[in-house]
Amino acid sequence: MEESNFIKTIMEKDLASGKVKEIVTRFPPEPNAYLHIGHARAIITDFELAESFGGKTNLRFDDTNPAKEDSEFVDAIIKDIEWLGYHPAKVLFGSDYFDETYNLAIKLIKKGLAYVCDLSQEEISKYRGDLVNPGINSPYRDRTVEENLKLFEEMREGKYADGEKVLRAKIDMAHPNINMRDPVLYRILHMHHHRQGDKWCIYPMYDFAHPIQDALEGITHSCCSLEYDNHRILYDWVVEKCEMKHVPHQYEFGRLNITNTIMSKRYLRELVNSGKVIGYDDPRMPTLVGLKRRGYTASSIKDFVKSTGLSRINSTIDGELLEQFLREDIKLKVNRLMAVKDPLLVVIDNYEDGKIEYVTAENNAENEELGTRQVAFGKNIYIEKEDFVLEKPNKHYKRLALGIEVRLYHAYFIKANSVEYNEDGSIKCVHATYDVATKSGSGFTDRKPNGTIQFVEASTARCATFNLFDVLINDPDEEKPITERVNKDSWIKMEGFIENCKEHFDELERFQFIRDGYYAVDKDSTDEHLVFNRICPLKSSIK
Ligand code: ATP
Ligand code: MG
Repeated sequence: MEESNFIKTIMEKDLASGKVKEIVTRFPPEPNAYLHIGHARAIITDFELAESFGGKTNLRFDDTNPAKEDSEFVDAIIKDIEWLGYHPAKVLFGSDYFDETYNLAIKLIKKGLAYVCDLSQEEISKYRGDLVNPGINSPYRDRTVEENLKLFEEMREGKYADGEKVLRAKIDMAHPNINMRDPVLYRILHMHHHRQGDKWCIYPMYDFAHPIQDALEGITHSCCSLEYDNHRILYDWVVEKCEMKHVPHQYEFGRLNITNTIMSKRYLRELVNSGKVIGYDDPRMPTLVGLKRRGYTASSIKDFVKSTGLSRINSTIDGELLEQFLREDIKLKVNRLMAVKDPLLVVIDNYEDGKIEYVTAENNAENEELGTRQVAFGKNIYIEKEDFVLEKPNKHYKRLALGIEVRLYHAYFIKANSVEYNEDGSIKCVHATYDVATKSGSGFTDRKPNGTIQFVEASTARCATFNLFDVLINDPDEEKPITERVNKDSWIKMEGFIENCKEHFDELERFQFIRDGYYAVDKDSTDEHLVFNRICPLKSSIK
């Protein structure tokens, strides 16, 4: 991270004062869904800050809640982080510390700082009070150390049902910070754990487990998003009262949100489970796998996230800004090809039947190094339907019309002369003539065609599906279920052609289709039927 930010400044000071010898951070995802681009902010912060000081970063799965966790997500998260180009010093699991965590709970009981409480979850919330009213002590608060030790041991042995008892910290039921009003440290959950199997039926809460894990791993700066801000006091309490040898510190930064999408794993899961999207890697999803499948590069995502800065304020950024970073990243790196998404047949009446000729085209007009290719031209070509009208409507219209001449990219000038109709009145094809003297469209200063359009030669063209995407969420009503807020036109499929520029296309190969946008080869694409995802249009609609 080249840019400075408030956490980097803290790290610099801590190193300078000798408070820490090395910067050690961790990224602690809960493996209950795939990562989204909001997580990228946390990943970049954790990894790049540590790296900029020669420190290290652990990937630690926060798998203390067995209810929603799955090893599918563990594997996916590891891959996502690799894709972004980061290498964890260690891959660890919060659940690996369950023994230590349990022993520290016993330590707190022995110190008179934790007790077993029989109140139900509802009663606990009721007793907790609120911002104006202090809480009320639990009737079980004064159990003796011996009784608490015995009950906690019985909880672990499985003597009680889910919810029957919890272990709570004994802090202060009148504390101004509600998180300090005897928070729950352990609850009973008779549930299979993805790594621990059936070893445990009590599970520590995040607020208890997380600081312990940070301390055990020697984390110096524990960075997280702003919603943990009022948990920091409890974090520090746990580290202090458990007498952890190493003292980590928590720092909070603002969450990254993006317009017209959703940055919450719970809602993303709902979209997937309801079938509103085709999976976590649906190209419309803000997940890293979705953005990757759509064609976004890891570096465009990283540059985008870094451009949003790091502060203690949650931010909502216009999604189109990400598109700008993609364009910048690949503009000079990808070949610019001709594609027609909504084909209209044009018959060149004065061109020899059956003849195919090839014209040389540069692959990228702004980067000679990408070389040239051969583009086919013949009697039958396709152009975009929207590039033709019967009558030129005004002087701004720079495409084909009857009696009007346009230049075909890399090929000839053609003039439309007549139209053939289908029975239903739609246009079957346009009849045109070409001018043999205009090959490659150059050398004419006195003759100005009415614009330049792309084409593909019909007999050599490759069939292709073009997936065009719009924002995923277009209903701003946050009261509605997320599944009802999905933009119905967020995925449009078009069937057309691209020029036959090569035999084989690899997944995620990226191109610019001239006058249209940047595209990537979808994972479902085959060489028989190509499928391209539009990453973003060529031009931004941001004014
Ligand atoms: P979600 O709200 O999407 O479920 P989460 O915070 O529950 O996210 P975790 O797996 O706990 O997901 O997140 C791992 C880390 O990523 C946490 O430290 C969290 O602070 C951070 N994080 C999650 N979402 C964002 C975001 N939108 N912007 C910045 N950091 C985020
Ligand atoms: Mg979380």
